[in-house]
Order: sequence, then structure tokens, then C-alpha cells
Amino acid sequence: MPRTLSFDDLKTAVAEGTIDTVLVCLVDMQGRLMGKRFHAVNFVETSFNETHCCNYLLATDIEMATPDGFASTSWQSGYGDYVMKPDLETIRPVPWLEGTAMVLCDVLDHHNHPVPHSPRAILKKQIARLAELGFEAMMATELEFFLFADSLDKIREGGFRELTPISGYNEDYHIFQTTKEENVMRPIRNHLYAAGLPIENSKGEAEAGQEELNIRYSPALDCADYHTIAKHAVKEIAWQHGHAATFLPKWHRDRVGSSSHVHQSLWKDGTPMFLNKDDDLGMSELMKNYMAGLIAFAPDYTYFLAPYVNSYKRFAKGTFAPTKTVWSVDNRTAGFRLCGAGTKGVRVECRIGGSDLNPYLAQAVMLAAGIKGIEDKMTLAAPSKGDVYDDAKAGDIPQTLRAACENLRGSAFLREVLGDDVVDHYTRSAEWELEEFDRVVTDWEIARGFERA
Ligand code: ADP
Repeated sequence: MPRTLSFDDLKTAVAEGTIDTVLVCLVDMQGRLMGKRFHAVNFVETSFNETHCCNYLLATDIEMATPDGFASTSWQSGYGDYVMKPDLETIRPVPWLEGTAMVLCDVLDHHNHPVPHSPRAILKKQIARLAELGFEAMMATELEFFLFADSLDKIREGGFRELTPISGYNEDYHIFQTTKEENVMRPIRNHLYAAGLPIENSKGEAEAGQEELNIRYSPALDCADYHTIAKHAVKEIAWQHGHAATFLPKWHRDRVGSSSHVHQSLWKDGTPMFLNKDDDLGMSELMKNYMAGLIAFAPDYTYFLAPYVNSYKRFAKGTFAPTKTVWSVDNRTAGFRLCGAGTKGVRVECRIGGSDLNPYLAQAVMLAAGIKGIEDKMTLAAPSKGDVYDDAKAGDIPQTLRAACENLRGSAFLREVLGDDVVDHYTRSAEWELEEFDRVVTDWEIARGFERA
């Protein structure tokens, strides 16, 4: 297995001069790495203890605007500091940058308490609740994204209008087409592997220029750390090679969207607790309860799987992106799919999440829903069959950010498991995104109505 660096390994590398820079990062609400570049000597001598950042980092939008309405911080309270506490278990080399290592931080207040709305803290809380029940969650999040011929800078300077995918045709499982992308994908796989991520494979996806990266399933916190680092690396390595990578779920109305499917199973002391060989589908009662919770509360937590206006453009009939909160056996049209039926790898795959999800938040709310299903011994309905897009009896995934935001605000379940402060914080974030969108006059409105209205 690939490994991270111990703190002693890092000190040795710094003394030998092979590492001179340490990226000290937190994960923000959008799932991005934010932080500082330390001189490695300063890091190993003092800053490994802690450093500080403005507390607005967990209360900005994607453009770094400072919306009002957050209880945790504001202009009135003067935007003070948080403590960034390096988690020394997460030190790793960053092989695609010269002489560089990285560490992820937990975010604490001045009383050394975890900041409740910090994504890492939100996931850790649900992992601890699951541990009290005696289980460990193993998760895998698939990363889908598009590569473009031009660089991000060129595309931005052109107003995001000239978007030419790196390849000319649907490259699903396509070896020849993806060979042409190996100048970007091979360094992504190999650098991430050398950074301690258990990379499984990359493959072409079902659209021109679309790739998928798969990382081996891992304990939930590791999985979220891997996802975040991998997403960052994909953008950075593509940029180094003069190309753009985007995780926008739907960059063109006629092109397939990008998702992030989340595979989930519960284990105890190395035993897969979702497996019951005597069941028709090899599913344990525990798995059925977990899935019942996952499905019942999907409309409540969809915001955390689809946090932007654009996220909802992906949910279209006949595209492999789901629209219904039902489960099925190895059927890609439902929101939840049973995979590995009857084997040690039996698991549920949630197919709702877009490539823009924050993996800490997505995993946390799904774990919470699964835990609720276990605690209340919820009953799992029979699996759906055939094309579930047209199943009138099946529940719907919220179709817009507005609907998902209202579900989040009104969710007694999420208020109970995450806390009112966390739900209010993320509801405000969703509301702000809608307010920003509502202020914009779009190209579509102009073209549609300018002459004909
Ligand atoms: P697919 O054919 O759907 O891509 P894969 O066999 O590649 O399926 O597996 C998809 C993901 O599921 C991989 O990242 C893999 O590590 C993960 N996975 C496999 N077994 C489990 C498990 N028991 N729990 C959670 N994730 C798992």
C-alpha cells in the first residue's frame, strides 16, 4: 500500500534538503484546499503545532465574497481567526511540485474546539457516532471530470466561450482515445500514488474529453482526504500541461454531466457487515436498514450532493444521472445501486452526487442517514426494476437548488444529527448562491427575449 510521510520522515527530508516547502491546508465549504506555503524548516520547528487563518475561509462563496447572515462570523464581529491544527497523520509528498510536502488541518476555535461547520469536523462527528455502534464505514468516491484542449487561463480570458474538449468523441472505456490523454492522466495516476493515495485506475467516460479517476475504497475520512487531494491534483497537473480540467457537473446542455458516485459499506474488525450469504441478494439486515435510511432522507440531504445551481442541470432523464430516490440491483438508472451482490465487496452506490460535491459533507450526511436507518430499524422497499426514470411511484430527487435548500432548512433529521448551527450555516450558503444567481441576467434570457419579447 502507498503510504504517507511520518513527521520524522518529513524532518529527515527537510534536513537532507529534499523537501523545502510544506503546504498547510484546510478544506473549505466548497471542498477546496486553502492555506499557506510554509518554508519546511519553519514547519518542522514550530508551525507543525498550529497556524492561523481568517475565519471567513469557512463563510465565503466560491468567488471569496463575504455574504452576510452567518452566525459564526461577520463584518460586525470583525472576521477574527481560526486555528489551523495540522493533522500529522496526513503529511505526504506532493510529487508534482518540486521539493514540496502537504499536510491537512483540522479547524479549531480559540478554545481548541473543532469549528462545527468545518467539513472535516462534520464528517468526524458522524464517524464517531458510527464507531459507538461498533462499525467502521468504508467509502469510495469516483471522480469524473472533463479535460479541455486549452489552458484554464486562456479559457477564462476568452470568457469561457471557446470550450474545446481534449478529444473528439465519446471515450467510454476507450483505450486508443485515452492513450492520447496519457500525457496528463499518467502523471495524475503516478504522482497521486506516490503521494500515498491508493489509485486504482483511470478510464475514459461517456463523453468527449471526459475522464474518471478511481481510488480504492478506504475508511471514510481517508476517502474524503483522498478525493480532495486528487481533485486538486487533477486541476493542477492538467494546468502544468497546458490543459484545463473542470469538475463543473454540466458544462454544456448537450453533453453528459460529471458525477461523483459514492460507494459505501460498513465493516467490523475486517468483516464486511453488509454481507449475508443466506439472503437472496447477499444483503444483511444491517445493510437493508442502512439503505432504507439513505433513501428516506435523500431529499433532505441532496443539497450536500448538489450544492450549486448548475448541479441540478445534470439530473436529466436518459443520461445515467438519476432523478429518483429508489434503489435497484446493478441498474444505473436509479439513485442507489446495489453493487457486488452476495460478495465480500457488497455495497451501495449513491449515484446522486455531482462532481462538485464536497466529499466530507456528502459522506457525513449519508452516514447520518444510514445510522438513522439502523437505529430505527427502517424497512427497505423492494428494488425497482427496468428504466426507473418513468416510475411514477418512485420519489423524486429535488429538481432545483431552491427546492434542495428548502428541504435542508426544514429537515428535522439533519437538525438532529448535524445541529441547528451547522444546518443554518449551510442553508445560508445555499440561499446566498440563489440570491447571487437571481441577480444575474443570463445570456439565455437575452437571446430568447431581446427581439421576440
Ligand atoms: P464499477 O465497475 O462500478 O466502476 P468498481 O469495481 O470499479 O465498480 O468499483 C467502484 C468503486 O467501488 C471502487 O473505487 C472500489 O474501490 C469501490 N469499492 C469496492 N468494494 C467496496 C466496498 N466494499 N465498499 C466501498 N467501496 C468499495
